Amino acid sequence: MRVLLVEDEATLAEQIAAGLEAAGFVIDRSRDGEEGHFLGDTESYDAVILDLGLPYLDGITVLRRWRGAGRTMPVLILTARDSWHEKVEGLNAGADDYLAKPFVMEELLARMRALIRRAGGHAAAEIACGPVVLDTRSGRVTKDGIVVPLTAQEYRVLSYLMHHLGSMVSRAELTEHIYDQDFDRDSNTIEVFIGRLRRKFGHDLITTVRGRGYRLEAP
Ligand code: CA
Repeated sequence: MRVLLVEDEATLAEQIAAGLEAAGFVIDRSRDGEEGHFLGDTESYDAVILDLGLPYLDGITVLRRWRGAGRTMPVLILTARDSWHEKVEGLNAGADDYLAKPFVMEELLARMRALIRRAGGHAAAEIACGPVVLDTRSGRVTKDGIVVPLTAQEYRVLSYLMHHLGSMVSRAELTEHIYDQDFDRDSNTIEVFIGRLRRKFGHDLITTVRGRGYRLEAP
């Protein structure tokens, strides 16, 4: 899952990015509203963390512009503590959730996972595809109740497919969502990860849609 983080406080941005990366997310970062707006407008993200007080363009304006242009990715705003005004204004501008500073990393992670799940139509914390179950809280994947160890990239590919259960996902889309902006992307590597996942979970878990992409069939 690929997340855009727009936050101008360097230390806080560093902490958030480290926490998200450790939890398996891929992060693009921006320190100002103008660049952040541009990235959210042109790149594909599974969720956005948006600070409100930003240089060049404030967070509320960034959010209004995205929503006005039809960008629908889930957005969590970071607000000042005890500012009900910021929370209301942010939600009215199209935010899906908010978190007041200072916050605990675990809460941010839980909220991000819930936002991404709900955006994919999954209300429960576990997503199941036959015997394969992804626990979005722990990042663990089991088959028939037994934990299957996965590398970070294997997890990202499987997690993205499971969040889009039953839908065709192109190789380009997968590539966009498992690497950050600066990564030298090569969509051929996706095939390698799909091959490894099939060896771990059985060949029929992931269907190849010839010439187009992949799909996990909803059970
Ligand atoms: Ca700020």
